[in-house]
Amino acid sequence: MGALRSEQQTAYDGLVASGLALDLTRGKPAPEQLDLSNALLTLPGVDGLGAVAGPDVRNYGGLQGLRELREIFGPLLRVPVDQLVAAGNASLTLMHDLLVQCLLHGTVGSERPWSQEPRVRFLCPAPGYDRHFAVCEQLGIEMVPVPMREDGPDTAAVAALVAEDPSVKGMWLVPTYANPTGSVVTEEVARALAEMPTAAPDFRIIWDNAYAVHHLTDVETPTADVLGLCAAAGNADRAFVVASTSKITFAGAGVCFFGGSAANVAWWLRQLAFQSIGPDKVNQLRHVLFLRDADGVRALMAAHRALIAPKFAIVAEVLEARLGPLKAASWTDPAGGYFVSLDVLDGTAARVVSLAKGAGIAMTPAGSAFPYRDDPDDRNIRIAPTFPSEADVRAAMEGLSTCVLLAAAEHLLA
Ligand code: PMP
Repeated sequence: MGALRSEQQTAYDGLVASGLALDLTRGKPAPEQLDLSNALLTLPGVDGLGAVAGPDVRNYGGLQGLRELREIFGPLLRVPVDQLVAAGNASLTLMHDLLVQCLLHGTVGSERPWSQEPRVRFLCPAPGYDRHFAVCEQLGIEMVPVPMREDGPDTAAVAALVAEDPSVKGMWLVPTYANPTGSVVTEEVARALAEMPTAAPDFRIIWDNAYAVHHLTDVETPTADVLGLCAAAGNADRAFVVASTSKITFAGAGVCFFGGSAANVAWWLRQLAFQSIGPDKVNQLRHVLFLRDADGVRALMAAHRALIAPKFAIVAEVLEARLGPLKAASWTDPAGGYFVSLDVLDGTAARVVSLAKGAGIAMTPAGSAFPYRDDPDDRNIRIAPTFPSEADVRAAMEGLSTCVLLAAAEHLLA
């Protein structure tokens, strides 16, 4: 064991000396992925301005967003076109805003604004998306972790918590290719969530389908029809569906979507009318002209896949080669999305990330995927391989593996 440790220390010293400067912190598209949508930069053009019905896209109006764009994304997100809103560029803004409106005014079925409740709690499948948790923290919504599994959240844990406690007002959920685990909520899990009795009459699932069409294999895993399941269960207003084109077209200049029951959409548009006289319809129009239809989206996503699937393959290859034989860690093999979730030896994740930093490899801070950044086992590390080049992904994974092994050796000898 001592020999293993000194061997790993030597490998780590060599890594530090190699002077890397790599960043795997955030799930950003690579420049080549952004290039796939460069045609947007010349659209709509003067000639394209009249390509859609309705008010002049350059003017105020059209709060629900261009119907033609909603027709493209409605079927992909499994939201009826009339129940879909196309809005600004960021679904994170939308999610933050949805919760602010619930706190200030309450939503459909609320007895009072959430802020007038003695406490407001949200269930957080963990590991999960750090920015979801940051929104809760910022707004004073208490977070209750529930385990995230391959088929979605632990429904028994969720059902028990929501049945008893009216302060549990909602839960976060990334149904398809979750951040960071790649989990896909199955039809059965979605049905259980749609049907479960909740003590709060206005319980909401924030169904954040950020990676609905972001397949990494030939299989186009469908997302469960959460709105249909909720309606069939007599809980039509339970789900707020959100998504965006951030990882389809431009991460900083895409379009986001909100979907829900007819009552939820009417509620949302009433709130929105105080904030906006209409969204950026010029951007929405250029998305219509560029993407054309659902098949246009699928073709673009296939081009993304060709660029990023090899990076995920490198992550799997290096981890298997370096950590597999020693069983020093386990990791996900996602069929879509933007992340790999790595579980290292319990009690070593923070040390691994700090060793990586010392070697010039920036990782998302350990614990980020948990409410309050508290990974109770100190084992989870999120890997975001899309942005760096393939060579950099390989170098980063080799370096990270060295850090995992050194931290494990240190821990076992402590
Ligand atoms: N939801 C999830 C699950 C994400 O991973 C991300 C991006 N990392 C977002 C939302 C952010 O989306 P947007 O760019 O639309 O704000």
